[in-house]
Amino acid sequence: MGVTCSVIVPVYNEAEVLEQSYGRLRTVMEGIGGSYELIFVNDGSADGSTGILRGICAADPHCRAIFFSRNFGHQTAVTAGIDAACGDAVVIIDADLQDPPELIPVMLEQWRAGKKVVYGKRIERKGETAFKKLTASVFYRVLASLSETEIPTDAGDFRLIDREICELLRNMPEHNRYLRGMIAWVGFEQAAVEYVRDERAAGVTKYTLKKMLRLAEDGLVSFSSKPLRFALGSGVVVCAVSAAAALLTLILNLAGVTEVSGLYFLGWALMFVVGLTQIFLGIVGMYISRICDEVRGRPRYIASERIGFGEAGKDGEE
Ligand code: UDP
Ligand code: MG
Repeated sequence: MGVTCSVIVPVYNEAEVLEQSYGRLRTVMEGIGGSYELIFVNDGSADGSTGILRGICAADPHCRAIFFSRNFGHQTAVTAGIDAACGDAVVIIDADLQDPPELIPVMLEQWRAGKKVVYGKRIERKGETAFKKLTASVFYRVLASLSETEIPTDAGDFRLIDREICELLRNMPEHNRYLRGMIAWVGFEQAAVEYVRDERAAGVTKYTLKKMLRLAEDGLVSFSSKPLRFALGSGVVVCAVSAAAALLTLILNLAGVTEVSGLYFLGWALMFVVGLTQIFLGIVGMYISRICDEVRGRPRYIASERIGFGEAGKDGEE
């Protein structure tokens, strides 16, 4: 208890790089001074990572580890770390040294200046495929335009969060976790620290295309209800266009400008019915988005300060 800084490191088959990243993290943390802990969350590794972590934890009292019974995914691993961390400031960092540990002192400085969240913003990504860079860039921008929460672009999970934010995240029980969105959602003063994302020190990416798509899906579904309401808008347009076309056809017919067969009206009527179905899908979507909000069980609001109320009832939960 009572450590100043906790560092959470999710680990999935990182045997090739683990010793090296532990070494660099230790050097940085010892350089900062003050108490610290390194929490490794072993997300069901099947290579030598498990043995290496046992060794590190046995030799260094600053290190703790959580071993998952199987691979639960990166966001879940970080969540377990957040649940276990006891630092006043908590840093989340990848095990592959793509996020430079040397940035932690800079983040701590911002935290000491009062920022509750300090996130790393990637100004350049080294050693990643053009495909990954392009899809990541497009995804961040699509999410920014669809999301009701302002989620920083080009920022991953490398960040420092204050103990208060940790407590809030622990009280957000949603299962499909898109942590960077959840951290943006809680609000407070947040700051960015720009950095160049290095190449992986060793090994290959553990984010398969399937995992990347799943993460993107979690981000979009958890932070936007616009796709659900899209059917409503498009349904209204389809109905309006088909009704207008039918009316125009009727007028042209009555005025004797053209002789249009009844088949045209059948076409417009069909289109109108399709539009109506879309409208009802959109209405169902509005209910589903409210059900999602209820099921997520997020606090309704978060107060950063209360004046004249004493200590009781800090947040929105009952
Ligand atoms: N990771 C994890 N569980 C997974 C996939 C990845 O804990 O199912 C960890 C991995 O060990 C690393 C971090 O999450 O510390 C980021 O993964 P990776 O570097 O492979 O992703 P990329 O940087 O290529 O997006
Ligand atoms: Mg990586």
